[in-house]
Amino acid sequence: MPELPEVEVTRRGIAPHVEGRRLEGARVRDPRLRWPVPEDLDAILRGRRVSAVERRAKYLLLRLGDAGTLLLHLGMSGSLRVVPAETPPTAHDHVDLLLEGGRVLRLRDPRRFGAVLWTPEPPERHPRLAGLGPEPLSPELTGDYLHRRSRGRRLAVKNFLMDAQVVVGVGNIYASEALFRAGIRPDREAGRVGRDRYVLLAAAVAAVLEEAIAAGGTTLRDFTSGEGAPGYFRQELAVYGREGEACPVCGRGIRKAVIGQRSSFFCPGCQR
Ligand SMILES: [Zn+2]
Repeated sequence: MPELPEVEVTRRGIAPHVEGRRLEGARVRDPRLRWPVPEDLDAILRGRRVSAVERRAKYLLLRLGDAGTLLLHLGMSGSLRVVPAETPPTAHDHVDLLLEGGRVLRLRDPRRFGAVLWTPEPPERHPRLAGLGPEPLSPELTGDYLHRRSRGRRLAVKNFLMDAQVVVGVGNIYASEALFRAGIRPDREAGRVGRDRYVLLAAAVAAVLEEAIAAGGTTLRDFTSGEGAPGYFRQELAVYGREGEACPVCGRGIRKAVIGQRSSFFCPGCQR
């Protein structure tokens, strides 16, 4: 499943080809994504210029000036490419956004859990985006913030960290890795982790995600080639998926625990 780093790398990959371009419409081959693609998408987009390509959580936002915003989500298996309009579509290339100059922004989504949504309102008011917590790479994510939000919370700190109302975009792998770096056991009660440790955790979350984005920027293929779909970046993981292996810091065996139905990995020596 594309996680926040993959979505951010996609944003950076497509933005130079899309920003400032006029759209000549849309070609929808199959509107049956997670929610139906708007029937009038072609008419909505035709003649509009893309003023910016932004990201909020795992949504890409194509801002069309004052007209509105197109929200794109990659779901479980989606990917975006910029290809010449005459490139033959595959069975899973469900939506093309037609760019001036003879190219298209093509959404491929074999499992069709992705989304193409239109809103004329400010996108932060859209039901999919309203109520979300801050971005993990923004200055809003601080130790003080996490400390304040966690008071009185009895759930495991890992589940707290993966709650999109607390902070968006911290998936299972990244939560495990960030907690390892911060030295916090994933099953510790969120409300019993002190401010100083949340300061370490906020920094660890940002560092883990930044490293994944950097890895993606170097390993990901050209967004203008039609080949394949981006998968997980081959990032060095210290604990995730390493049950029984030696901790890279203290050498003790990495343990696995199921927390909130998700596999969690931690070092019993480094994490308390
Ligand atoms: Zn260790």
